[in-house]
Amino acid sequence: MSTRKLFGTNGIRGLVNVELTPEMVIKVGAAVGTFFGKGKNLVLGFDARTSGPMFAKAVISGLTASGCNVYFVGLASTPALQFAVKKHQLDGGIIISASHNPPEYNGIKVIWSDGIETSHEQETEIENIYFNNKLVYVPWTQIGQKRELPGVNDEYKVAIKAHVDPQKIASKHFHVVVDAANSVGGITCPVLLRELGCKVTTINANIDGTFPGRLPEPRPESLGVLSKTVVAVGADMGVAFDGDADRSIFCDGQGTIYWGDKTFAVVIKQYLLKNPGAKIVTPVSSSTLIKDTVEAGRGELIWTKVGSVTVSQTMKAENANLGGEENGGVFYRPHQAVRDGAMTTALLLNIMADTEKSLTELIAEQPQYFIEKGKIECPDNKKEILQQKIYEQVKTEHVSTIDGVKIWFSDGSAILIRPSGTEPVFRLYAEAKDSDKASKLVESYTTKLKEILSTL
Ligand code: MG
Repeated sequence: MSTRKLFGTNGIRGLVNVELTPEMVIKVGAAVGTFFGKGKNLVLGFDARTSGPMFAKAVISGLTASGCNVYFVGLASTPALQFAVKKHQLDGGIIISASHNPPEYNGIKVIWSDGIETSHEQETEIENIYFNNKLVYVPWTQIGQKRELPGVNDEYKVAIKAHVDPQKIASKHFHVVVDAANSVGGITCPVLLRELGCKVTTINANIDGTFPGRLPEPRPESLGVLSKTVVAVGADMGVAFDGDADRSIFCDGQGTIYWGDKTFAVVIKQYLLKNPGAKIVTPVSSSTLIKDTVEAGRGELIWTKVGSVTVSQTMKAENANLGGEENGGVFYRPHQAVRDGAMTTALLLNIMADTEKSLTELIAEQPQYFIEKGKIECPDNKKEILQQKIYEQVKTEHVSTIDGVKIWFSDGSAILIRPSGTEPVFRLYAEAKDSDKASKLVESYTTKLKEILSTL
């Protein structure tokens, strides 16, 4: 089996026409088609990137050459496409998107029949087909068909509305600002919110693959325009999506932008009130706020490795209905067990309507943590031994080695020390109830790591 890789943590990504070329994408299409098998039906769509239509044609060539039928959607968010796979009982799908990466990138995510991205084992199978030229090209009589699949975005909106109380939300006349990142987040969410009786102001809502408004990654520091717009128009809430609208970052009526842990914790608290003892799934990189919220609500917390596919698959395996990541991904399995920006927006509005509290008030109820980050350089070949050595030093503490080494201290502070999957560095994420303590944690563990590294 080949050790060469196509897939990273979230699908295939690369610089357009440099790393990711049309001829490569045809071959990826054929490898995916071979993996699924002749006669299978796959949905296909893309985000706003300028290279989307070009790569869609290449994927269609490869898939139909291997005998798969393509149900073409065109512009759609990743969660809308994932929903279409389930709704139409298709065998899988392909999304052409580089998610939160800059405009010069594009990528390919492969979706399995359950609507979740393919597992790492399945990706290895596709890589094996691709690199070892095991592509199956069918005879001319068996070439797949390309059909249009209209109405996907409407079906997705209808499905989301079934999980909230539209009358209650409408009765509050919320005003919401949507920052669509000039991509597919602008296709469904503003209309959905209007149908839920909200007044909607949009920014960066025209489809433009050069992403003129802001970069596709919704980070608090790049959402200044959203924050100012919310304050200027007197809105109740703002929401910003990434390039394929699975991630959503929110700001309250005062223009304060929050990382995803805080809004996820709002959803958890309310969910546990209505579903006592429920299981909540989150990666070890999440804030202790998530642990506190689940414990306070008497839920059961399940930690996973970092990565959205792992969260989705753990939810499915554990029969858990709610999951989330700090980068703005809430997974609500009664709708679908994947990150879904529009679903998350509707859930938050439903909670605001239900509790009659503003987002500011809901977040002010939470314990506050200060976060500090650090990193040290570490050659790839020393990562494993460094991680093992640091674990030996701290194993008497409350510690988890699900992904890197995470230590929880009795005063509520915590640190995650984790090797980067893409760079020769170790990252440190500390949090504590005061900022001084958080920086001291990063400092002391940076020193510890350097000391160990110098002996290796
Ligand atoms: Mg994304």
